[in-house]
This record gives sequence, structure tokens and C-alpha cells, in this order.
Amino acid sequence: MADIVLVTGGAGLIGSHLCERLLSMGRRVICLDDFSSGSSRNIRHLKPKARFAVLHHDVTQPLDLEVGQIFNLACPASPRQYQRDPVSTVLTSVIGTKNMLDLARRTGSRLLQASTSEVYGDPAVHPQDENYRGNVSTIGPRACYDEGKRCAETLCADYRHRHGVTAGIARIFNTYGPRMHPDDGRVVSNFILQALTGAPLTIFGDGRQTRSFCHVDDTVDALLAFMAAGPATLGPINLGNPEEISMIDLAERILALTGSRSRLEFHPLPGDDPCRRRPDITRARTELGWRPRIALDEGLTRTIAYFEDLLSETGTVAAT
Ligand code: NAD
Ligand code: UDP
Repeated sequence: MADIVLVTGGAGLIGSHLCERLLSMGRRVICLDDFSSGSSRNIRHLKPKARFAVLHHDVTQPLDLEVGQIFNLACPASPRQYQRDPVSTVLTSVIGTKNMLDLARRTGSRLLQASTSEVYGDPAVHPQDENYRGNVSTIGPRACYDEGKRCAETLCADYRHRHGVTAGIARIFNTYGPRMHPDDGRVVSNFILQALTGAPLTIFGDGRQTRSFCHVDDTVDALLAFMAAGPATLGPINLGNPEEISMIDLAERILALTGSRSRLEFHPLPGDDPCRRRPDITRARTELGWRPRIALDEGLTRTIAYFEDLLSETGTVAAT
């Protein structure tokens, strides 16, 4: 069953695009998801395909399957989603990753762990390279996600050293694009929906905090390149777009691209919100031969088109 690829979290933003790309490459794909933050809508166009199967399952429960590769993406990614049930978020990263590493060990599969730039916390080093060890609170509102992902990295390293599991660690930076959940509270989906519906754009804090946004197609390219790399290439490797932008500038960009006359509305900054974030992607360039290709304006234009379609299909969506 070496040709079967397991994608956990396959009904989410990144996972659904990854499943689609794997199928277009002729692979057989099992999409595992508990549909807690993902949506069956994201994969409904894939369901008729013979090489595609959906498994409704929670990664915190053990699983036995015959697979050849595992992309472990299952975990809520937006602060609103992962803070809803923080204990479950920790367990999804820790127990879920252990379960997938056990499966990789038994089947001899290569596993790719979806880690995150959040392992760097509110970084004291800028831009962030993979040697930076981070500045993370163990008890703050983001800790369930950040610390869960850090522990998952530790498990990958220990399974590699103790059991010879080829577990690669991909530190993904903010990824956006079509199929973002309209109500998960991430900044790109919030601003676009607010602009399209004439609602005020909700800026948290003074809006001078920065992020670096990578289009989902580029992120998927990177994950595929990482999975295809030799067994010695295990990372951690930063995957992201170094084009850095403040939230104020992002809001202005989205207003211009949508032609919206929405106003900006300032709200308190959530606790532990990182001030800045930009990946150093030297390692991804040299070890994977990868770099992002989709500029922010182009990616935002595609994402705006997606949400316009969604709005015309489903009516008004509240986005706050
Ligand atoms: P998403 O929320 O759209 O997708 C996550 C998917 O995992 C959802 O379909 C959800 O239903 C599923 N899931 C959650 N808990 C589960 C569980 N216990 N068992 C089975 N399925 C479960 O998020 P995304 O943006 O597609 O992110 C995918 C992965 O990439 C996540 O692990 C996330 O931490 C990581 N990541 C994403 C970003 C980003 O900006 N999008 C940045 C860094 C890391
Ligand atoms: N943000 C904002 N308005 C929103 C949602 C988010 O200003 O409606 C800010 C948020 O405080 C953070 C940045 O945008 O500084 C990115 O937030 P997101 O939740 O998308 O990702 P993360 O904080 O996990 O990087």
C-alpha cells in the first residue's frame, strides 16, 4: 500500500488543496478528518474520485491503516478555533501526532508534521530562522497551540532517534487562500468578508503588528517538495512567504482590491499576539529548491473571488 497517502486534517484549508494536488498527481488519498474546523464542502468535489476516500476520525484515537506516506495536518489553526477547546487542541497535537508516528513506524511510512511559526512565539529575532528557539508562553491564551506544536516536534525528533521514523518537520507560516473557513476569525478571511459586506474592518491593536502571508498553492508545493526529499531531509524547515505586511497595510490593500468603502474599526489586541513574523526561507530554498511564487496581491485577488462566490451561494456571512 506504499502508494496510499494519508492526509490528516484533509478537509481543512491546506489539507483540501493538498488532497486535490495529490489526486491530480495520480496518487491514492485517504482524507482523515473529524470535521471540527474543516468542512465537507472543501472536499465535496473530490468525493466522486475513485482514488479518494474520506475517513471520519479523530487523530487522538489510535488508528491502523496500510499507508505509504502521512501528512499530519490535523489541528485547528486559527486562534478562535484552537482556543475554543484548548485542552483538546493540546491533545490533538500531542496524542494525535504520537498516534500518527506509531502508524508511520509500523508501516515504514515517511511522515510530514505540520508545525508552525508559532513555535517561535513573539519572536525576539527577526526574521526567524530555524535555529531560533522562540519566545513562547507556557500558560498564555495561545499556549495550547504553540506548546502542543512544540511537543509534537519533540515527538518527531524522538521517534526519529529512537525508532528510525523518517518524520519531517515543516514550520508553516501564515497561509491563506480559497477555502479558508468564513467564520474562523483569521485576519485575511475576516477583512475580505468585512470588505465585501460593507462591515467595518476589525483591526486588533494599532494594526502595526506584521505577518507574512503565503498563498495555499505555494504552501502545498512546499509540502510536496518536502515529502519528496531524501530521507535525511527532515528539517525543521520554515515554509512561508517572506513578504511582510502590517495589518493596517493589509486592510488598505484589501479595501483597494475589493473597491470597498468599509471603514477601519480598532479593537483591543488579544493577549500574547506576536508583534512581527517573517520567515527566513534559506533552508527551504537550498534543501527543497522551493520558493513562493504567488505575490500577495495576486493571492488576495483569488481569495476575494472565492469569498464573492461563497457569498452569492450562501448569502451574508458574519465575519467578526
Ligand atoms: P484548518 O483548521 O483549515 O484545517 C485543520 C483540519 O484538521 C480541519 O479540517 C479540522 O477539522 C481537522 N482536525 C482538527 N482536529 C482534528 C482531530 N482531532 N482529528 C482529526 N481532524 C482534526 O487549518 P489549516 O490552515 O488547513 O492548517 C492545517 C495544518 O497546518 C494545521 O496543523 C495547522 O496547525 C498547520 N498550520 C497552518 C497555518 C496556516 O496559517 N493556515 C500556519 C501554520 C501551521
Ligand atoms: N487580526 C486583526 N483583525 C482580525 C483578525 C486578526 O487585526 O479581525 C490580527 C491579529 O491580532 C494578528 C494578525 O491579525 O495580529 C493575524 O491574525 P490571525 O488570527 O490571522 O493569525 P495569527 O495571529 O495566528 O498569526
